[in-house]
Amino acid sequence: MSFDFDLFVIGAGSGGVRAARFAAGFGARVAVAESRYLGGTCVNVGCVPKKLLVYGAHFSEDFEQSAGFGWTIGKPEFDWPTLIANKDREIRRLNGIYRNLLQQSGVELFEGHAKFCDAHTVEICGKRVSAEHILIATGGWPQVPDIPGKEHVITSNEAFHLKELPRRVIVVGGGYIAVEFASIFHGLGADASLLYRRDLFLRGFDRSVREHLRDELQRKGLDLRFNADLARVDKQTDGSLLATLTDGSTIETDCVFHAIGRQPLIEKLGIDNTGVQLDERGFIKVDDGYRTTEPSISAIGDVIGRVQLTPVALAEGMAVARRLFRPEQYRPVDYKTIPTAVFSLPNIGTVGLSEEDARRAGHKLKIFESRFRPMKLTLTASQDMTLMKLVVDAATDRVLGCHMVGPDAGEIIQGIAVALKAGATKQVFDDTIGIHPTAAEEFVTMRNAARSD
Ligand SMILES: Cc1cc2nc3c(=O)[nH]c(=O)nc-3n(C[C@H](O)[C@H](O)[C@H](O)COP(=O)(O)OP(=O)(O)OC[C@H]3O[C@@H](n4cnc5c(N)ncnc54)[C@H](O)[C@@H]3O)c2cc1C
Repeated sequence: MSFDFDLFVIGAGSGGVRAARFAAGFGARVAVAESRYLGGTCVNVGCVPKKLLVYGAHFSEDFEQSAGFGWTIGKPEFDWPTLIANKDREIRRLNGIYRNLLQQSGVELFEGHAKFCDAHTVEICGKRVSAEHILIATGGWPQVPDIPGKEHVITSNEAFHLKELPRRVIVVGGGYIAVEFASIFHGLGADASLLYRRDLFLRGFDRSVREHLRDELQRKGLDLRFNADLARVDKQTDGSLLATLTDGSTIETDCVFHAIGRQPLIEKLGIDNTGVQLDERGFIKVDDGYRTTEPSISAIGDVIGRVQLTPVALAEGMAVARRLFRPEQYRPVDYKTIPTAVFSLPNIGTVGLSEEDARRAGHKLKIFESRFRPMKLTLTASQDMTLMKLVVDAATDRVLGCHMVGPDAGEIIQGIAVALKAGATKQVFDDTIGIHPTAAEEFVTMRNAARSD
């Protein structure tokens, strides 16, 4: 049977573009369909614009701290439309880069919504295209709560396009997106509250990290409300919003932002016309090689709901391209020891096991922990504290987890992730000469365990 393409990718986001480019590089005839924005969530309404807003929000602290170094500056003024316009310009530039990358790789781009007709055929804007293999890389979409007044609630998708910075914001959720946006709004000068229905945000992260971040954010003046949830939102006559919480209390605000999780984007994809099945959480079910229950169809990235991060979608995209067109180079993605950051202010950087997970896995532990005021702040009024923590297996001396809350935590932990991936022991950390004076050197100079089993 002859097909129009060897591989048809649905979704030109992080994973889809990577799979398409690699497959084309291996000599396959490849096409990709994109209905909304080249580069997907990460480039348009995710990692990239968020990090630009985080940089923007950090300036408020930089201005304050500069006084300790002798700078006098007038009262800084912030203009949200300028930040958003500049951010949009940068994203347009990145969209163009993605278009060029696809073109230069010889991947044919179909701009429109793709829908399955059968296991080898998709339809885009009335045109039917066949392929031997089809890859679903359609990503995810923010969940919206089913509460009265949900039409007044925004998600991360809309937050990047607000016309003005709200004076007062309520962020609902306990995941990294909620924590990051609460930091962004607070840093840019809004009165920000974060509501989370459980006792502490960032479930799954190390407990010391979660508690340290809670204390730092509270000290900076962010209004954190745990064991609190939203019941309804009403628009008032003056245009402001009245948020009613489940305990009956109310908060007046100008913006309610929900970041309670993301669902797979499979609406109107026509998977009923194929044998593709969903798992019990509603994500596309795949095996270890990203094969769905329909032999010609694979799926990767957020739509399979494993680890919803761009570098993971990239690795999965590469794995599928290799499995299909360079099987001799195929290596499964290793989901262990994935480093990650939360770009709250201050940042979190983390890799490996939390103390709690390490204990649950049966390890006897030595815990090394250091809290200190970074050198950069010693000439300033800032009382921000940095946390660094190593979780070490007492029997083998292997470093199982490395966690940090403080400036540049993501940058520092990326390097340390290589050491953990290579199986470094605490002795290797101790034998490593530090770079002085840095905050990062603390990771190789912690000598006394804070506690051991
Ligand atoms: C606010 C926010 C911040 C984030 N920050 C980070 C971060 O700091 N670091 C990090 O690693 N990750 C971050 N992420 C997660 C990251 O963006 C995702 O994990 C990543 O984009 C997933 O890639 P993907 O290829 O699976 O899907 P996506 O990048 O979402 O791409 C899917 C693409 O498919 C298209 N599409 C969907 N259906 C169809 C269809 N039927 N036809 C044609 N096209 C279709 C969509 O328009 C989209 O462009 C963030 C996410 C959000 C929302």
